[in-house]
Amino acid sequence: MSANPPLLVADQLTKYFPLPGGRKIHAVDQVSLTIHEKEVVGLVGESGSGKSTLGKTLIGLHPRTSGTATYRGQPLPQRYRPEDFRYWAPKTQMIFQDPYSSLNPRMTVGEIVGEGLQLHTKLSAAEIRDRAGDWLKRVGLEPDHMSRYPHEFSGGQRQRIGIARALILEPEFVVCDEPISALDVSVQAQVVNLLDELKTSMGLTLLFIAHDLSMVRYVSDRMAVMYLGVIVEIGPASDVFFNPKHPYTEILVASNPEPDPASERNRRSATVTGEIPSPVDVPPGCRFQGRCPKVMDVCRHETPRLKPVSEDPGRQVACHLYGS
Ligand code: ADP
Ligand code: MG
Repeated sequence: MSANPPLLVADQLTKYFPLPGGRKIHAVDQVSLTIHEKEVVGLVGESGSGKSTLGKTLIGLHPRTSGTATYRGQPLPQRYRPEDFRYWAPKTQMIFQDPYSSLNPRMTVGEIVGEGLQLHTKLSAAEIRDRAGDWLKRVGLEPDHMSRYPHEFSGGQRQRIGIARALILEPEFVVCDEPISALDVSVQAQVVNLLDELKTSMGLTLLFIAHDLSMVRYVSDRMAVMYLGVIVEIGPASDVFFNPKHPYTEILVASNPEPDPASERNRRSATVTGEIPSPVDVPPGCRFQGRCPKVMDVCRHETPRLKPVSEDPGRQVACHLYGS
């Protein structure tokens, strides 16, 4: 019998955003996902596929429409009240994509980094200042940056501030939402390395959302691929990257830019053709059917469920090519 429940279990998690006239955006549709303690799960997929919404819904930043979620076996509220945030925020945190818009321009860096302690602990102002200073050092900034404002910092430095703000409460589970997408290529690796270091030293569990599949493979234990609100493939990160099974994953991998020009030349030059359909009018059957190079008749009317691929333990694929 296994001793501990997984850190996080989402079951049929759904988040719709209502539109006027009773229509709705199917941002996340019946996603089931288990994340184990100290695991890094990478989440990839085109813009608009629901990655951020899934991450935010998992930690209560959006109320969920339906489905359930548990944390160490304890049910997470469907809609967080202020007391739920007080209880859960020290355990679950988020690092946001855009370090320009996610830091309040009117607060000093010390106030931004210390805010979590101010809201969630009874520490004195002096203690909070001390800890904020320690955290600035820990993310590679200077303690005397505390009295400055976000606009005085570069993108990479701002993301370090965002990391300190999220981690000062010593959470266990952190959603990293494209933490390097808005940064210059030259500083991306530094921020990834910092996160990797903090993950190891703090024993963090991460949901790591990103565009760059080779980077996700590098930082993640497992990789999940999302398309139009659903997970279409999940498995050990290297397996998914080097041996993709879902036609969408195949195309994503093939179109992922390679830093090495030699291997870039050897790649198949596949790209996903056409636009991602509107999440308001999701296609019947498989959501990828309209763009899938391997589409079959069954795909147009039967929705494939995410299920294990028999010859490959640990891999799950939602595709009729792998049986119905
Ligand atoms: P991704 O992070 O993969 O780019 P998102 O989760 O941001 O995707 O978005 C998924 C869908 O939900 C998109 O169609 C987006 O426009 C919509 N959406 C996201 N956030 C909101 C919101 N707060 N209100 C209404 N629609 C939203
Ligand atoms: Mg996003």
